[in-house]
Amino acid sequence: MNKLTILVIEDDVSVRNLITTTLKAHDYRYLTAKNGETAILEASSHNPDIILMDLGLPDLDGIEVIKKIRTWSHVPIIVISARSEDADKIDALDEGADDYLTKPFSVEELLARLRVTQRRLLMMQNEKHMQCSVFENGSLTIDYAAGCVYLNNKELHLTPIEYKLLCLLSQNVGKVLTHTFIMQNIWGSSWDNDIASLRVFMATLRKKIEKKSNSPQYIQTHIGVGYRMLKVEDEI
Ligand code: CA
Repeated sequence: MNKLTILVIEDDVSVRNLITTTLKAHDYRYLTAKNGETAILEASSHNPDIILMDLGLPDLDGIEVIKKIRTWSHVPIIVISARSEDADKIDALDEGADDYLTKPFSVEELLARLRVTQRRLLMMQNEKHMQCSVFENGSLTIDYAAGCVYLNNKELHLTPIEYKLLCLLSQNVGKVLTHTFIMQNIWGSSWDNDIASLRVFMATLRKKIEKKSNSPQYIQTHIGVGYRMLKVEDEI
């Protein structure tokens, strides 16, 4: 019972067929576009719930397509890129894409990304309704108004940078944030050597919130790309 509409932007017929067959089998509705121009048109006229897009398109640069769509829409965008387009993938995330899949990908990977994005959509809708100042994710609670963080109802003592990092990740839960994006938001700059300090702060933050440092529950590392806060399923 998904019934979300996905816009699939992909010029490669076999990849497009793999995606649409998967979507159909899992009860998603979809639209397709073979190039950037059509993609922009479809996105503006049909208002899809999620966009899955290849970066290497025959007419326009995928990044340009993202920039255009971002001028009027917050629709979640999952980028599909070949390994050779790794730098483009990071640019795409910086321009507002939410997540990525690297070719070749499995059907399971595709479905997992869609589920993450769907959860993110749901949270975005809830936030719109409640404008809540308290963020809850598993055992983690952030009271933005009070500037307090709780884990299992116990207050955590975070440094100002750790707190800023955690807020940034939580406000973008489900979304991959690039190193550049995080550094610009935390320090207002993004020098290459800041990545090292970002890693240090992330490590100390994780020590405080993660039960097991080798299998983090909240903050996922994307090697060479950045970090993402995962939505933790409620433990029953
Ligand atoms: Ca392509």
